[in-house]
Amino acid sequence: MTSARPLSGRTAVVTGSTSGIGLGIARSLAEAGADVVLNSFTDAAADHELARSLAEEFGVQARYVRADMSKGEECRALVTQAGTCDILVNNAGVQHVAPLEEFPVERWDMILAINLSSAFHTTAVALTGMKAKGWGRIVNVASAHGLTASPYKAAYVAAKHGVVGLTKTAALETAGQGITVNAICPGYVLTPLVEAQIPDQMKTHNMDRETVIREVMLARQPSRQFATVEQIGGTAVFLCSDAAAQITGTTISVDGGWTAL
Ligand code: NAD
Repeated sequence: MTSARPLSGRTAVVTGSTSGIGLGIARSLAEAGADVVLNSFTDAAADHELARSLAEEFGVQARYVRADMSKGEECRALVTQAGTCDILVNNAGVQHVAPLEEFPVERWDMILAINLSSAFHTTAVALTGMKAKGWGRIVNVASAHGLTASPYKAAYVAAKHGVVGLTKTAALETAGQGITVNAICPGYVLTPLVEAQIPDQMKTHNMDRETVIREVMLARQPSRQFATVEQIGGTAVFLCSDAAAQITGTTISVDGGWTAL
């Protein structure tokens, strides 16, 4: 292991990693020397091409494995198919916004399945190999909504609080065995998903781009700045480092001060 590529020789599985935060984390882990398994629920040529280009850019092994994180068996198969899983990043997540009385039951079930149960399934399978090796890192991408709530996001907030609880339990079950389990809690991150909401918000509020970002989207983020996928990726790399070997069962907020309010 060299300090420039501290994760050389490790294999990382990152769920939901063909865009946004998952891809940012996969890129940061690859830059740190880890081989990576990318995942989403599609099986397009572009998915495999993304893995190929990442391998070329960072000089690591990278491949794409299709698995739908809403289905428990496919979550488990993803980790099995990876062969080795030294680093597991549970990132796949979706959102739906509606008042509780009108919240569609199928959306509730889907959000709980993708945002919470998937992490239970992948963790359950990954732990066997990590315990045998005496080394492992599990990084769960929760949210500021894992620590605090907003109206109309019942399923998302419940699932993300659940992820934080799962993180703590898994940490207690693995403490002292060379394995750490932590959650990153991002505030607003400028991913394609969030970028796509800006034009609508500009129209709704009759504001320019900068005003809508500062006054509407980042109203609860005291820095009034988005976090970046590179910053989330860097946090994940830190959690995988030797310096973080005694950090387990906790959360790291990357939210511009949101949860300090
Ligand atoms: P995104 O939509 O860009 O990425 C989500 C990823 O999950 C995509 O790669 C998508 O293909 C994948 N995915 C969705 N459903 C899936 C399924 N059924 N099976 C497998 N993969 C699936 O969104 P993002 O903003 O990058 O979000 C990533 C994670 O970060 C989520 O868990 C989200 O809750 C969390 N998060 C995002 C923000 C933010 O502001 N963007 C803030 C806090 C937390």
